Amino acid sequence: MAKFIFVAGGVMSGIGKGVATSSIGAILKSRNFNVTAIKIDQYINVDAGTLNPVEHGEVFVTEDGAECDQDVGNYERFLDRDIYSANYITTGRVYQAVINRERNLGYGGKTVEVVPHIPEEVIRRITQVAKESKADFVMIEIGGTVGEYQNILFLEAARMMRLRRPKDILFVLVSYLPIPKMIGEMKTKPTQYAVRTLNSAGIQPDIILARAEVPIDEPRKRKISVACSVSREDVISAPDVESIYEVPINFEEENLGNRILSKFKMRSRGRRDLSQWKSLVKTIKGANSAVKIGVVGKYFETGDFVLSDSYLSVIEAIKHAAWAHNRKPDITWLNSDHYEKFPRAVSELKNYDGIIVPGGFGARGVEGKILTAKFCRENNIPYLGLCYGMQIATIEFARNVCGIKDAHSTEVKQKTPHPVIDILPEQKTNLQRKDFGATMRLGTYPCKLKAGTAAFRAYKNSDFKKEVKNGDIVISERHRHRYELNNEYKKTLEDKGLVMSGVNPDRDLVEIIELPKHKFYLGTQFHPEFKSRPLRPHPLFSAFVKACLL
Ligand code: GLN
Repeated sequence: MAKFIFVAGGVMSGIGKGVATSSIGAILKSRNFNVTAIKIDQYINVDAGTLNPVEHGEVFVTEDGAECDQDVGNYERFLDRDIYSANYITTGRVYQAVINRERNLGYGGKTVEVVPHIPEEVIRRITQVAKESKADFVMIEIGGTVGEYQNILFLEAARMMRLRRPKDILFVLVSYLPIPKMIGEMKTKPTQYAVRTLNSAGIQPDIILARAEVPIDEPRKRKISVACSVSREDVISAPDVESIYEVPINFEEENLGNRILSKFKMRSRGRRDLSQWKSLVKTIKGANSAVKIGVVGKYFETGDFVLSDSYLSVIEAIKHAAWAHNRKPDITWLNSDHYEKFPRAVSELKNYDGIIVPGGFGARGVEGKILTAKFCRENNIPYLGLCYGMQIATIEFARNVCGIKDAHSTEVKQKTPHPVIDILPEQKTNLQRKDFGATMRLGTYPCKLKAGTAAFRAYKNSDFKKEVKNGDIVISERHRHRYELNNEYKKTLEDKGLVMSGVNPDRDLVEIIELPKHKFYLGTQFHPEFKSRPLRPHPLFSAFVKACLL
C-alpha cells in the first residue's frame, strides 16, 4: 500500500514548493523506496500546452506527450525517473473527466455536484497513479497557495483521503518567513496565518518547511511549534541555497527523512545513500572557472523583471553539462528582438563560449535568431539549436549557403516560395480546425543516428538509453512542434554540406542537423533538454559544452 505526502504552499507563491516536493522524494528514494510525484495545477486549462511561457514558465513534455507544468521536470530530475501524463492533474482535466462521465451516464442518473464528485475524481486519479507506478510513496504537490479560492477542492480531496486512510497520509506545508528590512528580524506570523487557513480547510499540517533567506533559529522554531501545533522537530529549516540540488542534503541534516518515516511507522529500506547528491554539490561548489553560454530567445521580460523560467529545462541541462566538465555555468539571456533592430549588435556573440537558440513559436525575433545562427556558423562559435533553433539554422543555411534568398518557415511566412521548414501534413488539418490543444507532434519518437557524425559520437559515448543493432544507434527523444525540415530541400542542403545526422526511421523526418567543419554546430528537432538529469547530463549538451571549452 502506497503512502501519500501532500505538499501545499503558504504565504506566497514562488518559494520552491516544486523543489521541496522533489527533494522530499529524493531523500525517500535515497532510502531505496520507489517514489513518484503528482503535480496539481488549479487552472482550467486542460494542460500547460496553451499557456504563454512568460506567464506560466516552461511547458515540460513527458515521454507520453503531456504538456505539463515545469515542476514535473523537477520531479524527473530529482527522482531520476520518467513521470507520465497521469501524474499531472489540472482543474480542467478533472472537470473534463467528470463531465464526460456524466454524459456517458457514468453517474447512473445521480445529480453530479462539485462536492463530492470533483474531489472524488481527484482521489481516483491519485490512487490510480499509486497503483500503476507501484510506488511506495506518492508525493502530491498542490499548486497555488492555501487560502486561494481555486485550490480548495484539491485540499478537500486531501482531507477526504486522510479521513479514509489516516495512516497513509501526511501533510507538509511549505511556508515563507520574511525578514523585512526595516525590522531586521524573521517573522513567523504569516506562517501562523497560513496554518490557520489550512486548518479551516480541515487540514492540520504534520510538517512545516520554513523557507526563508536564512536558516530559522531555535526560538522561532519553538514559536511556530506552539502556535501551529506541530512538534519542534517537524519545523524544518529550508534556507535559500546556491543550488537547488543542495536541498535534499539540507533536509536530511534536519532529519526530515526519519521524521517522515516515523510518522508512517516505517523503517528505512536498507542504508540511506546520499553520496551522489553530495558529490554533485561538491562539484557544483568546487568548479571555479566558468563556461559562458548565451541563450538567444524572446520569452524573458515581464514588466521590469527578467524571467528565465520559460527555459527552465534548458538552463538545467546547461548546468548539468557544465558541472560534468567541472565548470560553473554562466548563462546570459540575449534578446533576439534586439538583433533584429540592431543587426550589428550580433557581433557581441563572440564574447561567449557557445550559443543556444532554444524552442520558440511565431514570427517575433526570428530574423534576430537567423542572424545569430549565421554569426555562429561563420565565426566557428559552438551553436546548439533546440527545435526552433534547429529550424532557424536550416533557414539560415538555405539562404546564405545554398543561395535560396527567400527560404523561410511557413510558420512565419505562409506563402514563402521556398518553405525549407514546412508544416507537417496532419498539423495543417489541426490548424484549419483551430484544434490547438495537445495536437502538436508531442512526446517520444525514435531517431536513427548517422555513423561518423558528432551526434552519433555524443550518444555512443554516453550512458544515454539507446538501441544498438549492427552498429546502428537508435535513440528516442521528446518533441513539441508542428513544423519540420522539408525533405524536398534535403538534397540541396546536403549537397552544400549540411549533414542530417539523425532521422526518424518511420517517417523519414529529419531530427538532427549538423555542420562537420565546425567546432560544434548542431540542431535538433526534438528537445534534448527534457531528458537531461543532474547526475546524467544529456550527451548533446555535454558535447556542446566540451566544444565550448576548446
Ligand atoms: N515553432 C516551431 C514548430 O512548431 C518550433 C517549436 C518549438 O521550438 N518547440 O515547429
